[in-house]
Amino acid sequence: MQEHQTIYFKDYTPSPYTVDTCLLEFIIEESSTRVENIMEIRRQNCDAKELRLDGEMFDLELIWVDDVLLDETMVRLEKNAIYIPLDRDYARIRVINRIYPDENTALEGLYRSGGIWCTQNEPEGFRRITYFIDRPDVMTKFTTKIIANREKCPVLLSNGNLRGTAILENGKHLALWEDPIPKPSYLFALVAGDLGSISDTYTTMSGKNIDLAIYCDHGNEDKCHHAMRSLKKSMEWDEYTYGREYDLEVYNIVAVDSFNMGAMENKGLNIFNSHYVLANEETATDNDFMGIESVIAHEYFHNWTGNRITCRNWFELTLKEGLTVFRDQCFSADMNSPLTQRLDDVRALRERQFVEDAGPTAHPIKPDHYMEINNFYTATVYEKGAEVIRMMHTVLGTERFRRAMDLYFDTFDGEAVGTEEFLWAMQSESVIDLSQFKRWYSQERTPTLNISSEYSQDSLELVLRIVQKIPKNTQNQEQLPYTLPLKIALLSESGEEFDLITSDCILLHGNTLWITDEVSEVRFSAISSAPKLSLNRHFSAPVIIECETIDYPFLMAHDSDGFVRYEAANRFGIETLEAMMAGSEVSERYIESYGALLRDTSMDPMFKSQVLEFPSITTLMQRQEMIDVPSIVNAQEKLKQILAQRYFSEFKHTIETLYAPSNTDIDGLSIANRALKNRLLGILMSLGDVSISRLCESHYYEALSMSDRLSALELLENYAPELAQGALADFYTRYSNQTLVMNKYFAVRASSRREGTLERVIALQEDFAYDVKVPNLVRSLIGSFARNPVAFYDESGEGFAFVADKVIEIDAFNPQIASGLVGAFKNYGRLSIPQKAQMGGALEQIKNHPNLSNNVYEIVSKILEVS
Ligand SMILES: [Zn+2]
Repeated sequence: MQEHQTIYFKDYTPSPYTVDTCLLEFIIEESSTRVENIMEIRRQNCDAKELRLDGEMFDLELIWVDDVLLDETMVRLEKNAIYIPLDRDYARIRVINRIYPDENTALEGLYRSGGIWCTQNEPEGFRRITYFIDRPDVMTKFTTKIIANREKCPVLLSNGNLRGTAILENGKHLALWEDPIPKPSYLFALVAGDLGSISDTYTTMSGKNIDLAIYCDHGNEDKCHHAMRSLKKSMEWDEYTYGREYDLEVYNIVAVDSFNMGAMENKGLNIFNSHYVLANEETATDNDFMGIESVIAHEYFHNWTGNRITCRNWFELTLKEGLTVFRDQCFSADMNSPLTQRLDDVRALRERQFVEDAGPTAHPIKPDHYMEINNFYTATVYEKGAEVIRMMHTVLGTERFRRAMDLYFDTFDGEAVGTEEFLWAMQSESVIDLSQFKRWYSQERTPTLNISSEYSQDSLELVLRIVQKIPKNTQNQEQLPYTLPLKIALLSESGEEFDLITSDCILLHGNTLWITDEVSEVRFSAISSAPKLSLNRHFSAPVIIECETIDYPFLMAHDSDGFVRYEAANRFGIETLEAMMAGSEVSERYIESYGALLRDTSMDPMFKSQVLEFPSITTLMQRQEMIDVPSIVNAQEKLKQILAQRYFSEFKHTIETLYAPSNTDIDGLSIANRALKNRLLGILMSLGDVSISRLCESHYYEALSMSDRLSALELLENYAPELAQGALADFYTRYSNQTLVMNKYFAVRASSRREGTLERVIALQEDFAYDVKVPNLVRSLIGSFARNPVAFYDESGEGFAFVADKVIEIDAFNPQIASGLVGAFKNYGRLSIPQKAQMGGALEQIKNHPNLSNNVYEIVSKILEVS
């Protein structure tokens, strides 16, 4: 059994040495790459006597310290590091080593994807390239020389600005890149290969011209234009919103097919999973287009929040990720519909982060220990991290928040800092004391606000009693109450807002309660009639609200806050479904309220499609003490049928009105119309009516937009298997040579609720278009299956066993992707006795496998320990 070591935040100390400059030379050859690395080392702690350099998975050839060639007697070599005696303030270290990008299946460091050499170094990939002090608080000026065959690798890219090129003998050429801005090694990048590209320019607010380029496989250039437009919009937005300008002469983006993550913000040379770059109307859904816009923006915004100001250590990951997600969410809201964006943000938070926070792998947004930092690129660090920033934005207001950000940029530019420095900048501009607010960084789990109200007709007063219920953490320790902004309204019968007058609580911006205590009683005066409560408007705090006196139908019809309107419909849906699961008849009031929304012609179609959405299986599973997927699915399908029967003609009429098969535009209205049409068609399909199935089939064949076609395919697969056969075969024929579209095909098949899905998934692994070494394909086929509650939780237990086998198989060559799959087992503690035995067996099988990676071991042992 190998050792699995835990790393603690409390053990952090600054690096005893730093690297001021690093001169790299890569000679790329077919079977291996030679790396020469010359580092100027400076001692920062005068007591230090020995330099540790991280390095793994390469062959060391030669190493010098100030021109003295070292041999084995002069250094201490370990598996993942070299120790060199160094008792002086400056030294030049020169390393020559060799790496094997073709054999790098973990896709960390320098590897080859479809003939293209590329890098992924966050968090700890650089140590697989050469020896270095591979930690984010060591900031270095990098200069990179790349030498490769001219025909094989006409394109040679690295960070910074291009300083020169030259033709060499033997068919080779070189490029010299210089990055003038110091950066940590995780932001180093290199790309070499034969790539197509599109280019453009951007003039910054101070008049500098920046050359922009997006590189991709030849033949895909026409799919890069949406990404380029998104990049230019992002650059403009960051200037306008934060006064932040781009700082190099060039900005390059490269799309590669094999990539563990979504994208990477390497300085001046972003490397992207091609899923987040390539799109045209025929191959990408509306969601794909939105995703590209937001990920391009996210990586661009990192140039200031992440690259110029970086993290002191990996425990501080949310410093750059939470903040940058908040920035990309605001950008998307400004580019599209703010309400739609907010609903999407909240849905993603609750479906992924709330689930994580309630389970065995819960952790604070700033964790205090980890075994494998790759396991902490989580919804908690990213999405909850963004909500924490958003709460500060709400508390400070837009202007003060901007001033605090300016202070943060001005004070810490060029440094590696922590969340304490960020909070210092926020506090400097805040009139509210944020000291207790810091608990959001160190505590885990989602708090619940239990809210009750009492109205007095005599005194015209309303008392709100707000109780914070703070769950224990994963170590079963008590946690403390939070401070948080709770935006509310008190509504009259006609939907008018009463003025909020109280002296019991700080009121931010006139409508937001600043909650500081575990129990708060807030008395509002001059409320002329018993008000309706509108709570946590715009989702001002990432909490669960419990309140028995909320009038869902009223809020669905009258609330001016779109989030609360959506929330009321969603919560009413949850209550209705849970009552049905408990054996009650469906609520007539719910059916009527749903119909009222359906008939509301004044509503924005995108919002309407969101409001008419059903509570998801994940949401309902999350609320069950013991997971029972069939009862949820039965209730959902029954409710759909009841609605479809009651409103058949309205549904059908709306679908016909909205259907525009030749429209492939991606403007807001076209996207909204498709979303609403497909939502309603999905409800009608539950009837199993032949004419509706035929209608759906015609949408599959006629519609030119991928959103319509894919949505119809999913519905046929789940509701009309006899028609799905032909459509699936057609889809396969059309797109089998386009990996990005095949991801969708595999996902539809692995997400199917029909019987026999596991057998089909097993067979699809042999498909010509499938490749277990390509992360996107694994996520589409195996990942979709693991997220398919019906198939995964099948009573045979075979779903658990299958995913366990895949985790073990994939862990042997790509631990990061394997550990992502293990998350599927997080509900272990909430299963029936027979299912728990089945899943326990699968988890033990993984845990007992020899040579398990840290990545998988950490997640599996947490699930087994905590559950
Ligand atoms: Zn990021």
